[in-house]
Amino acid sequence: MNGDVANSLDSNTIGSLVTQFGTPLMVLDCDVVRQQYRALQDALPNVELHYALKPLPHPAVVRTLLAEGAYFDLATNGEVDLVQSVGVPSERTIQTHPIKRDSDIQHALRYGCTVFVVDNVNELEKFIPYRDQVELLLRVSFPNADVLADLSKKFGCKPEQALELITHAFDLGIRIKGLSFHVGSQTRSGDKYAIAISRCNEIMQQVTDAGLPVLSTLDIGGGFPVQYTADVLPISIFCEPIRQALNVLPETVRVIAEPGRYLVAPSVTNIASVMGQAERNGQTWYYLDDGIYGSFSGLMFDEAKYETKSVKQSNEVYSSVLAGPTCDSIDVISDNIMLPKLNNGDLIVSTMMGAYCSCTATDFNFFKKADVIVMGEETVFDSNSISA
Ligand SMILES: *Cc1c(COP(=O)(O)O)cnc(C)c1O
Repeated sequence: MNGDVANSLDSNTIGSLVTQFGTPLMVLDCDVVRQQYRALQDALPNVELHYALKPLPHPAVVRTLLAEGAYFDLATNGEVDLVQSVGVPSERTIQTHPIKRDSDIQHALRYGCTVFVVDNVNELEKFIPYRDQVELLLRVSFPNADVLADLSKKFGCKPEQALELITHAFDLGIRIKGLSFHVGSQTRSGDKYAIAISRCNEIMQQVTDAGLPVLSTLDIGGGFPVQYTADVLPISIFCEPIRQALNVLPETVRVIAEPGRYLVAPSVTNIASVMGQAERNGQTWYYLDDGIYGSFSGLMFDEAKYETKSVKQSNEVYSSVLAGPTCDSIDVISDNIMLPKLNNGDLIVSTMMGAYCSCTATDFNFFKKADVIVMGEETVFDSNSISA
């Protein structure tokens, strides 16, 4: 047990949700979001946490985190619209997509978000018309082979290029307020951040030495890991090297982070039911009403592994296959899972499905995406029945 929050819905709650709403369901517990936020804030006491909406762009999550005092990391116009609709003050937001259309910049500016991220000259020059309104962060890339998703290939300038880009920005009259990086998602060790932080500290010193305006902000990105099926460090221990590296920075540097997965992954539980079954090659195949093209899309896109169990418990279990509902052969959730003999209509529950699941689900083959049911906010309601 690592002290981090484990989500558990008792079977009574599961039963009554299914009676009320049917299946498939994604049950979002805002209490878990709150606990995750507080655990990360405790582990990184002087860091402003900007929730990156990408893994679970849901209004209830935004409202819950806003009430906790969080800030928000936006990357697209849809995310801008979502935080605006929830009433997030624009000063609490930054727009961190390294590559934007002019219309994206204008959209964020109309909302009042004035901090943007760039990582190359072409992007920097897009801000010439807005130079009196904006402050930019320069995204620096640090390779990380040791993560689920290494983002350093797609985005970020090399640390050696930073001074030249910052000088160019200065010549164009564009303010660079600081540096940012993203070490990659579901990072295994806090050391990756520590190395990036000290390299950024060197760049900030170089900038000061060059007589350029002092960089006041360091954005250490997201990537904080959660416990799927493999063990990860408890968050306070994971963050120890990060805290140490941050201690060395000048006190005037404002440090922010962009956690996504960590805040939401444990907050959602999937409930699916068995639509039908067949014996094939000595195994029972159970066909669920949710699958790879739906909530389990994270198995493909995110390479995450979720804990999946049957609500019905028995000492007699058999190697079984759990498949999704579509007619496509890749739509298999697990090809070897120990399950009791199940009847059609029996329920299968999977945990840790808050990050990169619902948001990447499709309605391929006309199997509609699972409804998201919100608990732990003011009331329980079906989010699909309220208009956005
Ligand atoms: C996706 C993303 C995040 C969130 O990453 P997690 O690994 O989910 O914490 C933060 N910042 C940026 C720029 C991102 O693209």
